[in-house]
Amino acid sequence: MEPKRIDHLLQNIYRRLADNYGRLYWWPAEEPFEVMVGAILTQSAAWRNVEKAIANLKSAGALSPVAIRQLPLPELANIIHPVGFYNAKALKLKALANWLGKSYCDDLNRLFASDINSLRQQLLSVHGIGLETADSILLYAAGKPAFVIDAYTRRIVSRLGFAPEVNGYDSYQKLFTANLAANVRLFNEYHALLVELAKDACRKKPLCDRCCLSDICRFYKEKIPRLTLDTNLLQEYWKKQVKYNNIERLLQLAEQDEVDLAVTARIHEDIPEPPLMNKIDELPELNVNKTGSVTRLGFWELGRDMLGDRNFTDFYENALALANKRVGKKHLPDWRDWDHLHAHYLLKRDVFLTWDEGIICLAQELKDRFGVVVMKPEKFLEDFNSYSL
Ligand code: SF4
Repeated sequence: MEPKRIDHLLQNIYRRLADNYGRLYWWPAEEPFEVMVGAILTQSAAWRNVEKAIANLKSAGALSPVAIRQLPLPELANIIHPVGFYNAKALKLKALANWLGKSYCDDLNRLFASDINSLRQQLLSVHGIGLETADSILLYAAGKPAFVIDAYTRRIVSRLGFAPEVNGYDSYQKLFTANLAANVRLFNEYHALLVELAKDACRKKPLCDRCCLSDICRFYKEKIPRLTLDTNLLQEYWKKQVKYNNIERLLQLAEQDEVDLAVTARIHEDIPEPPLMNKIDELPELNVNKTGSVTRLGFWELGRDMLGDRNFTDFYENALALANKRVGKKHLPDWRDWDHLHAHYLLKRDVFLTWDEGIICLAQELKDRFGVVVMKPEKFLEDFNSYSL
């Protein structure tokens, strides 16, 4: 999208969110050090648990750099227990308090007198402070115009359809900072409104019908493609083999909510042994769903998810004959291939992605008889990219 358009779009989004949710007055903290502590505690934690931990710190008289330095580590970890990862976070709080004492004699005014770039670099040098935490401190504690990018912001921007080409923190941040006036109040409120939208409507499973942005949202307007990955694609990816990049690109699209990726539950039969078998547990992290598989009554084991379609099962013999003629014995689809396809068909997913020549050579018949679209990932990506431009 043209830069000129993005500034209009960002203003439009802001106005709609502000009209819908009103002013939010972030950050919910009484003083800057509390913001700094909250910014660390909120890493991978729900805000209600951060509030409990902050209340504990307050009632223990430990919400100051000096008190945090003096507290034994296990005691500090115990106090902040509600936020999870409390041992690691206690270490981070110690690192922050030690740095503040050593470099600034705990004088936050002196710390915040630094210019934004130098202050950001200093914060990033402290153990436990990453980009998002540093920017939260800059914006909400120091009152500097840093736009905070979090998982919510990325999700919303991707779904709306203007994610940057490079999927990194800085690229997302630049979208906002290059197209909005560097104004602390605006950045503060904008980030708070995006978080509110993510909690209210743009959840992991979005509730688009209640969203004030639905008429300008690409996700809402276009059904994202539901792709089923043949198991061999993930095997290539996990083994980092030649076609690794194509799958990495698909996984990136899934992370940006541009495609819905799944494998069928029979992946366990294709990959029954470690170390690749253990990788199957990583599917949720890769944003890949596991669909059901097909029950073959009286033949394969019972207790699977879906009853098959007789027509699909019966076509297998024809498929073998056709594939034999077209690509030879070596590439014939076996029963597992057919079950992956069968589950994909029953679930009415959009495209089955495979490198298996024995399936690719049946593309026309599968489409004509069952409406099943099969193609290679590179072909899908080529079409998808030209369609997205
Ligand atoms: S329309 Fe749906 S996907 Fe789009 S921003 Fe709103 S909630 Fe998110």
